[in-house]
Amino acid sequence: MSRPEHLTILGAGVCGLYAALTALRQGARVTLIEKNEHPGGLAAGFKRGANHFDQGVHMLHAADAGIYQDLAQLMAEERLPVTLDARIRWNNRSFRYPLKGLDILAGMNPFQLVRCTFGLTLAEVKNRLKHTQAAALTAEDALIATYGAPLYRFFFEDFTHKYWNIHPSELSAEFVRRKMPRLNVLDLVKKCLPRFLDRKSKGSIVESALADETLHYSATGAETLPRVLAREVGKLGGIIHYGAKISKISPTHVHLSDQTVPYQRLLSTIPLPSLIDCLAHAPAAVRAAAQHLHYKPIATYGLLVSKEKCLEGLYTYYRNRIFHRVGEPKNAGLKITPPDHTVLIVEMTCDRLDSKWNDTPETRQSVLADLTAEGICHPDDITEWHHFTNPHGYPIYRLDFEKHLNIVQHWLDSQDHLRSTGRQGAFAFPGMHQAMRMGQVAADSLLP
Ligand SMILES: Cc1cc2nc3c(=O)[nH]c(=O)nc-3n(C[C@H](O)[C@H](O)[C@H](O)COP(=O)(O)OP(=O)(O)OC[C@H]3O[C@@H](n4cnc5c(N)ncnc54)[C@H](O)[C@@H]3O)c2cc1C
Repeated sequence: MSRPEHLTILGAGVCGLYAALTALRQGARVTLIEKNEHPGGLAAGFKRGANHFDQGVHMLHAADAGIYQDLAQLMAEERLPVTLDARIRWNNRSFRYPLKGLDILAGMNPFQLVRCTFGLTLAEVKNRLKHTQAAALTAEDALIATYGAPLYRFFFEDFTHKYWNIHPSELSAEFVRRKMPRLNVLDLVKKCLPRFLDRKSKGSIVESALADETLHYSATGAETLPRVLAREVGKLGGIIHYGAKISKISPTHVHLSDQTVPYQRLLSTIPLPSLIDCLAHAPAAVRAAAQHLHYKPIATYGLLVSKEKCLEGLYTYYRNRIFHRVGEPKNAGLKITPPDHTVLIVEMTCDRLDSKWNDTPETRQSVLADLTAEGICHPDDITEWHHFTNPHGYPIYRLDFEKHLNIVQHWLDSQDHLRSTGRQGAFAFPGMHQAMRMGQVAADSLLP
């Protein structure tokens, strides 16, 4: 009898873990190589003291029914369904997200409302007639084509600039096309109508900024999902090497600092530039192109706060603060010790080695000042600070990124036994469910 196929997977984030599960369920042997000492990548959660902290609140979307049902079974009674209820702070007011028509009516002055609605309508008409969003080259043009100029100037220009530390005119339109939710006037008007006139609108507008959605979480936060995936991988005989440092990848072997792992088929979910750097046989032009692909790091504070509750909803987005989002996972069912405290997850995009990355006293002061100014909590309420960083938070879609990405992907496509996928490996913005589906598709395509 011939030995089963062997799949080697680089990275044990949710994409790599789900790829492993897919291959194991088909009877393949699987080895995972992970640089951290734990699974989950961006979706990992950390126990500090008595509590769990996500590095950026992570909740599972049920948009992919196949992935969702599989995970619901694996998470079993640990899974907690939660209604998506976020807020956007804008113009000193809070708007619920998904957007609610009445909030918008009450929260904007009539002049702003008319301007923004007119701009949105005009953008929609232009888009239908001239496909302005598809034709846009810069993120600025794409945001105007999607939401209209008044909304862009009012909210998206500053927010986007602050988020990336790059003006939208220097970012590619592709990030808007791939990442930003739709908003259209007809749906907005329907949302303003009383329920009896609006029977069809509930939950029917997929990926729209107006759609209601149920997310899935757990009492120990984001750590549950990678933990149950890794457990299942282990149960089915998969091997995970944690704390592994890849020094080189030849056409037949992955060289780690302390051992060499032979491979037949290689599925990589690690950042593209790291992969290309390790691939000893990658041509110089491909190496040069990969050097142009950059990621925006994230820094997160996990705070234990001696208050029952700090926020309405699950998380709030901010435009003018040092953080762009603050989450309160207790509102989604996170178990907190002691129970009269809460946990805040304070998310900031940053640059490698800047003051947010380095957790300087000045950064903490700014965070405290902004939490206080927003009425979220008082400095004396904070009893624990935990700091987390990840150098690969978001791929940066600069204006010329596609040219370089195409060179790298074109060469990778010529490598029969190699696939690069997932958020880091495809240089994309998937949610966890999409990253897992990418892992499944890549594993299927590598196995006979
Ligand atoms: C702040 C934030 C909040 C988010 N919230 C949500 C949410 O609520 N819901 C949702 O669906 N999605 C969310 N996402 C998106 C989600 O986190 C990612 O899309 C998903 O986790 C990507 O999984 P992945 O396995 O493709 O990549 P990663 O999680 O990045 O996994 C890559 C793995 O490769 C490992 N690795 C890297 N380099 C090497 C190397 N050289 N050798 C070996 N291993 C290596 C890493 O350690 C990591 O484990 C969020 C993202 C961010 C940044």
